[in-house]
Amino acid sequence: MNQDISRRTFLNRSLIGTFIIGFDLSLRRWITKNDPNDALLAEDFPEFDGEFLTEDLNYVNDDFGHIISKSAIAVLLPNSIDDIVKLVRFARKYNIKIAPRGQGHSTFGQSQVDAGVVIDLSTLDRIREINASEVLVDAGATWLKVLEATLKFDRTLPILTDYLGLSVGGTLSVGGLGGQSFNYGALVDNLVELEVVTGKGNLITCSRDRNSLVFQSLRSSLGQFGIVVGARLRLIPAPTKTRVYTLIYKNLANFIKDQELLIEDGRFDYVEGFVSPDESDRWLYILEVAKHFNPTQEPDDDRLLTALSFSLGKETIEDRDYFDFVNRLAPVVENLQATGMWDIPHPWIDLLLPAEKAFDFIAEVLAGLTPADIGSPVGLIVLYPMNRDKFNAPFLITPNSNQFFLFSLFRAATPDSIGVEAMLEANQKLYREAIAIGGKIYPNGSVAMNPIYWQQHYQSLWYAFVAHKSRFDPNQILTPEQNIF
Ligand SMILES: Cc1cc2nc3c(=O)[nH]c(=O)nc-3n(C[C@H](O)[C@H](O)[C@H](O)COP(=O)(O)OP(=O)(O)OC[C@H]3O[C@@H](n4cnc5c(N)ncnc54)[C@H](O)[C@@H]3O)c2cc1C
Repeated sequence: MNQDISRRTFLNRSLIGTFIIGFDLSLRRWITKNDPNDALLAEDFPEFDGEFLTEDLNYVNDDFGHIISKSAIAVLLPNSIDDIVKLVRFARKYNIKIAPRGQGHSTFGQSQVDAGVVIDLSTLDRIREINASEVLVDAGATWLKVLEATLKFDRTLPILTDYLGLSVGGTLSVGGLGGQSFNYGALVDNLVELEVVTGKGNLITCSRDRNSLVFQSLRSSLGQFGIVVGARLRLIPAPTKTRVYTLIYKNLANFIKDQELLIEDGRFDYVEGFVSPDESDRWLYILEVAKHFNPTQEPDDDRLLTALSFSLGKETIEDRDYFDFVNRLAPVVENLQATGMWDIPHPWIDLLLPAEKAFDFIAEVLAGLTPADIGSPVGLIVLYPMNRDKFNAPFLITPNSNQFFLFSLFRAATPDSIGVEAMLEANQKLYREAIAIGGKIYPNGSVAMNPIYWQQHYQSLWYAFVAHKSRFDPNQILTPEQNIF
């Protein structure tokens, strides 16, 4: 950095009397109106429409994992896209790191930053436009807010995450998987258009046909090339009711075989699955499948359940309003919050496993796993398959097989569990074992990644990923805690 610049202190007279009035580059700290005013003034410290704060930062130095805590030096609560453009340009010029934050539901510091600025996008959450086939939203909106708006027009998103409290931008930067992914891919595969502010501070609207390189590279790019500020998503007609079938299996092989069959023949609209201990701590496999319907045309249960090997007599079948079904985690989350279990450490790991290797791998993992390893019953194991041909975002890396399984250990470090350190160590081992069989990480969990792991992750796309970084964020200011560069 230019010595002359680095010695200067930057102030902006226009913000005196509000929050921050400038940035001292030599001391790397923000200047408030109470600081001595003998510093050199910089006229380019931006004037924001929103708020720029240097106090009460605890929430941005934490996330859903409650494992990592970095020390941001400021948070921007933008009130316009222009605020983000201004901050990125300023930060680029003075080499200040930035982390965009949606709802902070990552588990290992991915939305945090040390000695930099967090952009809390939750203040940019407008639903800007809806028509019969598309919705245009700000990136800080949650899926719940988007869905509530589209349902007023009897429309829904083709796929939804299990928990609707995630932000649009945070999810699109990872991918967005759910029980409809076998049919529709990830949320990033259902995008019509993206609005992004690149690491150079350029605001770009992109789609398959317009600025297509930006569109292809930004989806699932882990906040590395730009900050998503808006998204136009595809809509489909919304059903009114959903019939949910919960089927119990005692045998992993049958469970996996039936899941594969169901995503091939597509008889259900939603396919997920869980692994949970019974009262003797043996693993049970729970298939959760659903069929949407309108009351005049009820699903044919016999046809839907034919040729499946679940434990007969243990199944439950329940009709729910569509909204209650897709928002089914809301009461669970409320309960976890009320009991304090939402605030304990969550060393999660999400793996994507090639279908042909999934049974052997999962059987071996489960044979060595006890409920204390995941902090059951708060901790959960999720297991369900997807069809690879539905996925087309280049940087959402999936195993090289026609079908693959999401295998997630949603560990919760409860008092009766093995504890957070042992869970993190187990994640690291599991990750190495998964990549050895051609597995991939779904990158939002608690695995300590490093540039070598990322290079293995992206494989032949690694050099394209590096080239995009140089092109869109040449000063490497964006989202450093992913630890890719
Ligand atoms: C209870 C729970 C349930 C979940 N269920 C699902 C699920 O069903 N399916 C699924 O796919 N995932 C699921 N997740 C994981 C989720 O996708 C990730 O946590 C994801 O990061 C979205 O959360 P967020 O919006 O809080 O993003 P954050 O954690 O805030 O951000 C995630 C990453 O994206 C970056 N980022 C945030 N906003 C932007 C932006 N606008 N532009 C560019 N980069 C940005 C951040 O810097 C960070 O690196 C779940 C997580 C939790 C805690």
